Amino acid sequence: MTGAGAPRSAAGAPRRNTARLLRLVHEEGPVTRAELTRRTGLNRSTTLALVGELVALGLVHESENPAPGAVAPTVGVGRPSPVVRASADVVAVAVTVEIDAVTVALVGLDGSIRHRVTSPAASRPSAPEAVAAVAALLDDLAERMRPVRTVGIGVSIPGTVRVEDGLVRYAPHLGWRDEPFAQPLAAATGLPVRVANDANLGALAEHLYGSGRGVSDLIYLNGGASGIGGGVISAGRPLSGADGYAGELGHTFVADNGIRCHCGAFGCLETEASRAALVAVTGVAADDLPALAVALDTGGPAVQAVVDRQVAALATGLRNAIHSVNPEVVALGGFLGTLLGHVGDRIVTAVRAQSMAAMADRVRIVPTALGPDVLLRGAAEIGFRDLLDDPEFSPQQEVTTP
Ligand SMILES: [Zn+2]
Repeated sequence: MTGAGAPRSAAGAPRRNTARLLRLVHEEGPVTRAELTRRTGLNRSTTLALVGELVALGLVHESENPAPGAVAPTVGVGRPSPVVRASADVVAVAVTVEIDAVTVALVGLDGSIRHRVTSPAASRPSAPEAVAAVAALLDDLAERMRPVRTVGIGVSIPGTVRVEDGLVRYAPHLGWRDEPFAQPLAAATGLPVRVANDANLGALAEHLYGSGRGVSDLIYLNGGASGIGGGVISAGRPLSGADGYAGELGHTFVADNGIRCHCGAFGCLETEASRAALVAVTGVAADDLPALAVALDTGGPAVQAVVDRQVAALATGLRNAIHSVNPEVVALGGFLGTLLGHVGDRIVTAVRAQSMAAMADRVRIVPTALGPDVLLRGAAEIGFRDLLDDPEFSPQQEVTTP
């Protein structure tokens, strides 16, 4: 936004306070008005007016019902403070593009996933094909659903992305180089579009809503069809680097005499620990992680030999990452979460065995708490960004949902 002076809301308060309240309700879930007053330090009448504004904008609802699990007031005789909830009918479109599928979901401002559809791809889609698939899936949703208000689109890409303009610089497994993505998708849908790297979105989602909630320093590793992506939250903020490409932990060196990687190097983490190798030795369908979990648990010596190699590679990769970042939590998504579920404490034990005690004593290595929703939640988060920055933002567009 440009222009002199801070924008003011209809109630006359600086709009940044309205935005602050909206973000709190969005990120924290149902919260009492009294708690909002306490958390923001605003006075009660200001909170009342600003919540009223958010209600008038259709972004939140207020009810007298206590929040589930809310503690009843122990003193005072007044009525309990009303509970403020974000609206499920204000949605962002969350998109994930992978080599074998394009998925589109409508995610409510309250974090609910309202609907999701996946279009399997027989061969890896080109960028224009992926844009067309997203637009077609959205049209399909629009025809079958009742009206909701859509505020933006967030897209997760397994590659490096120039976030200012949504240009995909390099997505090796998709075979994309310098492919515009945000602009053609915005043109096709009439909605604002933001695009980001998949693992960076996973790190953001885990930090806000998952196993890294309340944690300022965390690493997220995404094990997808396209190898391993990494995202880092450091001191509570996404680690971006000079060009926005920080956290490519899939290409850190983990093995002598390793396999040649598409990046040109040998022995990258993503060549030594891969979904493809686990799928090949177990014979399960490539995208069926529940079946993979069963196959790992019941597999014979050949399966366990592959698991052992991958655990060793992953432990070395995590050792490198932990010594660089000093995280409190490492969250593993996709097939890496499945692998962790199979071997349990073996990974953290292997990491601790080769790490400085001060680094590894406190670190927790956990599966993503958001499960298969992790990238969609991260993509929705950037789809909501314009609205969260300015609650009066409107792209002037409606689509529909069930
Ligand atoms: Zn590599």
